[in-house]
Amino acid sequence: MAHTRTSSIAFFTLIAVITSVSAAAGKPVKPPAVTFLDQKAAAKVLADESVEPFFSVMQPKEIAALTAGKAKGKNLTELRKSCRDIFSGAAASFTNKEKAALTWLARQVSTQFMKDYPKFASLPWSFIKLSKPLAGGFPHTRNKQIVFTQALITNIVRSKDSGNEKRLIRALGPLFVHEQMHVFQRYNPKLMADLYTKVWKFQHIKGGIQSPQWLIDRNASNPDGIDINWIIPVGKDKYLWPRAIFEREAEVNAMRDMTMIGVNVIKTKKGFAVVTDKNKKPVYKSLHRVNAYKEMFPTVRSLYHPNEIAADLMAQIYLIDVTTPNLSQNNRFAKAIAPMKTWCLKNFK
Ligand SMILES: [Zn+2]
Repeated sequence: MAHTRTSSIAFFTLIAVITSVSAAAGKPVKPPAVTFLDQKAAAKVLADESVEPFFSVMQPKEIAALTAGKAKGKNLTELRKSCRDIFSGAAASFTNKEKAALTWLARQVSTQFMKDYPKFASLPWSFIKLSKPLAGGFPHTRNKQIVFTQALITNIVRSKDSGNEKRLIRALGPLFVHEQMHVFQRYNPKLMADLYTKVWKFQHIKGGIQSPQWLIDRNASNPDGIDINWIIPVGKDKYLWPRAIFEREAEVNAMRDMTMIGVNVIKTKKGFAVVTDKNKKPVYKSLHRVNAYKEMFPTVRSLYHPNEIAADLMAQIYLIDVTTPNLSQNNRFAKAIAPMKTWCLKNFK
């Protein structure tokens, strides 16, 4: 999930000028296919959970947030079904003009990335349109598809119409990279785990982490990181569990009410468990206040899941490669992307 249309660059303070948006010189580049699901096919993918669970693991609080309180049901099973029906019912077909604008931007991104990251850049693009601003209007992915709302697509078409293509690439190229990275992650889990565990030192806890009900009730399921069992060591037998939750006791939270927290986890004889206080509430703090963690990813906004960290950093790699390829190695952003960039240059060949 990307948190705003320009989340990767909203805080990006570089004053950058695009000098060239052409393909890598000297190498013939064949950009991958770009496809658009029609209403019927999109509705099917949105309801589908054969690749990964989504609606079937949701709790009432997150269902209310994702549907702005519109999902109804007498019990959890009915609520989940209602949520699924609302999403698949919002599927819509693209117009030819919309297809042309999105195809143009997707091809730009693939072409620009083809020389250095061909494995990533040759991944086909596929899009779904939502007629309603579900999930707070946040772009996200399902199976092999990137899901955009009508409002965002209309913005892309307008920007393309304005003729300022360089500005469009700089403003929305990073978002395309972010979302396409989530599709890549879904179909290359082993490869991505190499980055998460070897470069970043995350650990994947296959058997899950024992959690109090308080935390389960407040989970914010992210279709782009549905497996949340990733923790990172912060001391002997002590771990930090990055999570996204709806903390507010409101009947219907807005998606922007989602908070990112670092939950304390310990290793026990039986496995891994959340540290709780006397009220059975987890011990945690805002992820942005966990200094050691924040120092690892100083330019990342979506800190709550390794998939999100990788998607944010890939978008920053794109922005720097395309707009300021000769950026000083001492620049804060150049330093922040360096470990992942080195890994990508080797593994996305
Ligand atoms: Zn994301």
